[in-house]
Amino acid sequence: MANVALRLPENVAGDFFVDSKCIDCDACRQIAPEIFAEDDEYSIVYQQPQSAQETKRALMALVACPTGSIGTVEHHDAHIGIDAYPSLIAENVYFCGFTAESSFGAWSYLIVRPEKDGGNVLIDSPRFATQLVKKIQDLGGVRTMFLTHRDDVADHDRFAKRFRCQRVMHNDDGATRLGIENVIRGEAPFAVDNELLAIPVPGHTRGHTVLLYKNKFLFTGDHLAWSPNRNSLIAFRSACWYSWEAQIRSMEKLLNYDFEWLRPGHGRTHRDTAENMRGHLRGCIGWMKRR
Ligand code: SF4
Repeated sequence: MANVALRLPENVAGDFFVDSKCIDCDACRQIAPEIFAEDDEYSIVYQQPQSAQETKRALMALVACPTGSIGTVEHHDAHIGIDAYPSLIAENVYFCGFTAESSFGAWSYLIVRPEKDGGNVLIDSPRFATQLVKKIQDLGGVRTMFLTHRDDVADHDRFAKRFRCQRVMHNDDGATRLGIENVIRGEAPFAVDNELLAIPVPGHTRGHTVLLYKNKFLFTGDHLAWSPNRNSLIAFRSACWYSWEAQIRSMEKLLNYDFEWLRPGHGRTHRDTAENMRGHLRGCIGWMKRR
């Protein structure tokens, strides 16, 4: 819960505020860009909500914040933000909100499918919040939990226990040590089922893996993201824990696949045609080789 005594002085005066526990994860700025902005190493409120819709977005950011750094002076119905999650992105793919501090506010996603098609899939772990768990239960629970890499596992064990789901993760990121049920080894693509392909992409970490759903949605963890400033796909050079050269090779491997939606754990999302995405990916690879 945000502490008004820690309210950052850079916040604009008024109801909503960010306190000094903010870890600058960017979630609030993505969810409610009309309210939150970056200021040095924090987010701040630069404009108070002007409408019911903006208030809802601000409350959704409050719920998603991993450190409970967003607060209000006035009373609001918390369920306006809570009940908005999981939040539909497109088709049957949802953003879970409720990010976890242990994964630095990484975004997690839920694919909702009938059991006959393989059942629901949770991609990376959100915070194990009772309200979210109930909503996921109402949407059919979780049959498979895919973990892109070691940084974004958060409360995976609690979700696995609650939903009795099968977790999928690469061995080189500690899957065996974490007790994961389906362990990926090596660099060959791994078919989780008919619609889901796990593609090992060593680089950010040794065992990082991305998940391709229906040749349309690519869940990239910390391997690949979108930069609005550069109008391009990017990788995080300063947060490459294993090998930049390996990450470039992994990026080249992704040229063999079609995807239209990029959904990362950190960084900005993007949607484009598969052809344009491939062009952006080529540009990203060239940029990485110059870094
Ligand atoms: S979501 Fe929370 S921790 Fe992340 S930038 Fe916003 S206020 Fe800071």
